Amino acid sequence: MKVAFLGLGIMGHAMATNLAKAGHEVVVWNRTPGKSVEGARTAASPGEAAQGVEVVWMCLSDTSAVESVLFGANGVEPSLTDGMIIADSSTISPSATRQFAERVARKGVQYVDSPVTGSKAGAESGTLIFIVGGEEATIEKLKPLYAAMGKKIFRMGETSKGQSAKIVMNLQIALIYEGFAEALTLAAKLGVDAQTLMPLIQASMVNSGVVTYKAPFVFGRDFAANFPLKLMRKDIRLALEAAKESRVKLPGLETVEDIYDMAIEDGHADLDYAATLLLLEKWAGIEVKGQAA
Ligand code: NAP
Repeated sequence: MKVAFLGLGIMGHAMATNLAKAGHEVVVWNRTPGKSVEGARTAASPGEAAQGVEVVWMCLSDTSAVESVLFGANGVEPSLTDGMIIADSSTISPSATRQFAERVARKGVQYVDSPVTGSKAGAESGTLIFIVGGEEATIEKLKPLYAAMGKKIFRMGETSKGQSAKIVMNLQIALIYEGFAEALTLAAKLGVDAQTLMPLIQASMVNSGVVTYKAPFVFGRDFAANFPLKLMRKDIRLALEAAKESRVKLPGLETVEDIYDMAIEDGHADLDYAATLLLLEKWAGIEVKGQAA
């Protein structure tokens, strides 16, 4: 298929690479020039990239990035023609997604929100899970592209329901990781070595995908971003906004948002969200591994 891929960050670069590897005709664009993808043509603007393609796929930081790439200067909108499909793998606001979809529908364009889970490793290995909102017939047309980048598609309902489900997933990831980080911190303070604790965690119901994925990074003291802390805070805020709109109270997540704000004040915005542990360690005056700092 002819695809414009917009946004070559941690996730987007790997996703576009897998599309090109699978033989699709890919044209890429990234805001900061100098990024390219092997086997793909590079365009000078989102509008240029979108000319004559069947599908425009985005993987951008946040709601305002998606809005400006679609509707801003040199954006996608003037290049849209009847029958094209927009797929968005950014994690953004569900209500903004509905507005964007309504606007492009006037040009006969279908919009499928397609946020992902699986992080950097899943993007690189082409094993992402897509959480999708849109019409079934449109999703069907996109299947060769999903297959090149991922291993599973879960349709949550109409357009925007993929984003709603994605923020609910990240709400859980943020809370589960915070539980793990707080447990490691208290264990260290109580003199229980983390390496000794891990087999117990793994043998019990406490174990989870989040723990399994993050533990090697935590014990290797590798806090380089797989999923940047500032982007997880964005997702926490999306969930809290959606909760407010729906008159739902999420006190656990509100507390975790404060922790992310403080971690960002401490200079950890561009590290992985696992670096919220660094704040707990600072407060406790220890370093996980069971040794007094
Ligand atoms: P990233 O590495 O920070 O990449 C962000 C991309 O968005 C870059 O290409 C960046 O361009 C572009 N961008 C930011 N602001 C822009 C703007 N105003 N206009 C145009 N382009 C803009 O982030 P990522 O980890 O790939 O995440 C991308 C999306 O996937 C986010 O919504 C994130 O929440 C979601 N996600 C990430 C993960 C993960 O584990 N990393 C997992 C699931 C979902 P520049 O190069 O110019 O900065």
